[in-house]
Amino acid sequence: MNTTVVNAFSASYQEARTKFLEAAAAAGLAIESHVHPLRGRDGETLALDVARDGPPDADKLLIVSSACHGVEGYCGSGVQVFALHDQEWRDQARAHGVAVLYLHALNPYGFSHLRRVTHENVDLNRNFQDFGRNLPVNEAYRDIAHWLIPAAWPPEAENQAAVQQYIAAHGEAAWQAAITRGQHEYPQGLFFGGTEPTWSHRTLRPVLRAHGAPAQRIAWIDLHTGLGPNGHGERIYAGRDDAAAVARARRWWDGGGSTPVTSIYDGSSTSAFLTGLMWSAIYDECPQAEFTGIAMEYGTVPVMEVLESLRAEQWLNLHPEADAALAEQIKARMKAAFYTDTDAWKGQIVAQARQALFQAVAGLDS
Ligand SMILES: [Zn+2]
Repeated sequence: MNTTVVNAFSASYQEARTKFLEAAAAAGLAIESHVHPLRGRDGETLALDVARDGPPDADKLLIVSSACHGVEGYCGSGVQVFALHDQEWRDQARAHGVAVLYLHALNPYGFSHLRRVTHENVDLNRNFQDFGRNLPVNEAYRDIAHWLIPAAWPPEAENQAAVQQYIAAHGEAAWQAAITRGQHEYPQGLFFGGTEPTWSHRTLRPVLRAHGAPAQRIAWIDLHTGLGPNGHGERIYAGRDDAAAVARARRWWDGGGSTPVTSIYDGSSTSAFLTGLMWSAIYDECPQAEFTGIAMEYGTVPVMEVLESLRAEQWLNLHPEADAALAEQIKARMKAAFYTDTDAWKGQIVAQARQALFQAVAGLDS
């Protein structure tokens, strides 16, 4: 029942969904599909598909999720499909008394349409704010908002000069942070966190509540791409600023120095400090459980290229009249920014994910 690494990955959302549903069926698992209101790029049905491997009343639960950031699902789906076919892994989880909850395509619209954001143009991993309160202000984004998305693509000389001047004055890290920190003021901009819960946000909460209710311990591995060296999976602590939980995550997942668990709370991560993160929902929906989570953030291309591809794709989204060849080129650039379509990269992705999965069930059972 094992599949090869390469066969676990797909060239489209539709193919990925089919492989996931087939892998779950082959493993004898029921599927719970939450159908999205819109259609995919090829007119296909979009859904958050949920498969649970393990007893409904397990007191230990591991969540494995893909495509929080749409297009990053090309990576995450491959990991999930491989895991469902991996009998040794499934036996290991069962031996530790851990139920595994696979959340396939948290943001299926972005996955299919090669966008990082949802159909609401929202970054799902900045959307878990308390919308009854004042939303955080990103001052640095305000400074760049009026030229971050240029009027033309490729950007005109004046626009390129503005980018170069900003980076010369503040540095690449500040440029990355200004854009990626998230913002709630520019609905047509990048890393927009929204002003209300998105479809994916609203759909995820009851799933967490239903499946997490019996659990006393919950772990979550959320699969991402687009930061760090190509093929390297950075394990970024994903939970509250709680020293005991950070220490627990490091005990479970620190890979002997070569794969440290980094944190946005102490500056050790390549990620900027962020708010509105998706993991915060687990504390609301499963308050009874001890929670330990990481994001696996796999490197693809240099971060400056990732940011340029996002600027281009946002411009395209605002200019549906764009020339078809240019549109294809921009979408291909976008996919390459979040998915390295080589056998070697996929092998690295699966090997590191598999290690983190085994570590998670051992940790939950420790
Ligand atoms: Zn991501």
